[in-house]
Amino acid sequence: MADASRLTETVQEVLRSLGVDPRLTEGGNRPVRSPLTGEIVAHVHDSTAQEARAAIGSAHEAFLQWRKVPAPRRGEFVRLLGEELRAAKDDLGRLVTIEAGKIVSEGLGEVQEMIDICDLAVGLSRQLYGLTMGSERADHRLQEQWHPAGVVGVISAFNFPVAVWSWNAALAFVCGDAVVWKPSEKTPLTALAVQALVERAARKFGPDAPQGLSRVLIGAREVGEVLVEDARVPVVSATGSTAMGRIVGQKVAARFGRSILELGGNNASIVTPSADLDLALRAIAFGAIGTAGQRCTTLRRLIVHESVYDTLVASLKRVYASVSIGNPLESDALVGPLIDEAAFQGMQKALAEARAAGGKVQGGERFTEGVSANAFYVRPALVEMAGQTGPVVHETFAPILYVLKYSTLEEAIALQNGVPQGLSSSIFTTDMREADRFLSATGSDCGIANVNMGSSGAEIGGAFGGEKETGGGRESGSDAWKAYMRRQTNAINYGTAMPLAQGVKFDI
Ligand code: NAD
Repeated sequence: MADASRLTETVQEVLRSLGVDPRLTEGGNRPVRSPLTGEIVAHVHDSTAQEARAAIGSAHEAFLQWRKVPAPRRGEFVRLLGEELRAAKDDLGRLVTIEAGKIVSEGLGEVQEMIDICDLAVGLSRQLYGLTMGSERADHRLQEQWHPAGVVGVISAFNFPVAVWSWNAALAFVCGDAVVWKPSEKTPLTALAVQALVERAARKFGPDAPQGLSRVLIGAREVGEVLVEDARVPVVSATGSTAMGRIVGQKVAARFGRSILELGGNNASIVTPSADLDLALRAIAFGAIGTAGQRCTTLRRLIVHESVYDTLVASLKRVYASVSIGNPLESDALVGPLIDEAAFQGMQKALAEARAAGGKVQGGERFTEGVSANAFYVRPALVEMAGQTGPVVHETFAPILYVLKYSTLEEAIALQNGVPQGLSSSIFTTDMREADRFLSATGSDCGIANVNMGSSGAEIGGAFGGEKETGGGRESGSDAWKAYMRRQTNAINYGTAMPLAQGVKFDI
């Protein structure tokens, strides 16, 4: 097992190689703990409210300049950022593992996702198109244009400590906006590392990238609140729990700002009689156990047809009993730690509630073999439930998979939709009618609906987000970029008459 100083040394080495000023991560008021061992690896400095407001002010000044830089040039800045991320992929991925506890390939995958969205944004920088519409008036043109929105505030969760910023920032930069980021208080180091890479890209880009184009605020909710309440931030993109989004959404709406809310999920997969069970088993295992159950798209409910229930549940029980758990820096285990003790307690509470509601629980206990006693590793839990009650309708951010049985597809879809959250969903079937029914208007009510895949592991090409208590926001691909711009409708009269719309007469 790594001793305390070795992990801290690794962190310092990685931060140095990523170009982070050591003064930012030493001697501060906020200890940073690695979930791998539970030890403190750095001390960062919280931003004061005054510093936060000054950062927003400088971002606003930067926006006033940046909006004048042609969009394809702004794309060049994001291309340079992508290059920095490519060069830093190993180091940054390692830091994600150390700070968020992800296994190595997922830490690297998160950085790959940042690179992918930069590529998408570069292409987009030449495609920020508006429409032209036929005008009802002679010699008139009707069109819409998309203009930069202003400062975009990004509030992010611990579990995607860097990718979430990039989904927002890469689009915001090409759209002509400046970005102020309040990362999770649990993962400030990766944020400081990303900011160092942005600054490197900006130096390469030259003086057209204004100071203040990208700013990071360190701290907990109080610092986030400054961003949420500041009228100089027209767009706030907030990723985290539904409880957070409920407050942030209302505060931003109260000042007529726009929010993009990416909140909790309670994702389900339906396994039908015709499903390829081998394929389903692999997808379910990654969806439910991967990232130690700490993805917003983690599979939390499995709805299985009665004819395949016993076979599938028996296979799942074998996987759950044998899946490897351990420190991802020291083993190739598939399951790393929970983020902290509070996450562990939350998991135990949900399991106690499930038992009280008649659930049959396998696993869920703390795992201690060969890992630090100060870290919180768990065996993933598989819970057979007679009905969708108690903890099943809530998101518990830990690896608990509730299994439910169904007889008809209507019943399965009703169960799938019968929770307050609406992020991701999937169906395993080889029956075309079932698949298309699931994807139809009367099927899944989620923002993401997959066929013969799990609920997690989205690609950046599609718009990402969910309905109901997941918040309704969309980020990443498709036309999600429009949320970072303001739409302007233009009517242009190139004739000499002055006809009014709807045939209104007003002759003076
Ligand atoms: P969290 O809600 O505790 O914190 C998220 C962020 O919000 C942090 O930066 C936090 O400091 C900030 N915050 C909290 N209250 C605030 C307030 N009142 N004003 C301003 N900022 C505030 O979430 P977490 O524990 O870090 O992350 C886990 C949650 O995030 C889960 O619910 C998960 O489903 C969700 N999540 C959703 C998505 C998505 O895209 N839908 C992606 C990742 C995580």
